[in-house]
Amino acid sequence: MRCSFCQQPIEYGERVYHEVIGWEEERRQGGTNALRLRSRTGAQAHWVCVDKAVGGHAGQLDLTLSDHSAIVGSPDRMKGAR
Ligand SMILES: [Zn+2]
Repeated sequence: MRCSFCQQPIEYGERVYHEVIGWEEERRQGGTNALRLRSRTGAQAHWVCVDKAVGGHAGQLDLTLSDHSAIVGSPDRMKGAR
């Protein structure tokens, strides 16, 4: 199993996120209700990669995790990172 973000292998026991799909209802007042009929797609990602992707520590990324730096770059940068 490889991380959907950095494409590096995910080791057993590592803290991971599971990608899910589901259904949400758009509310009249804006926003959406909770995801329903959620199911896992089978894709996984490192916890840290998801955390970076949502902007948690984007500024420190290149300094701390060079292997994971591709996730904040453009698609072109991602290709070059391999
Ligand atoms: Zn990763």
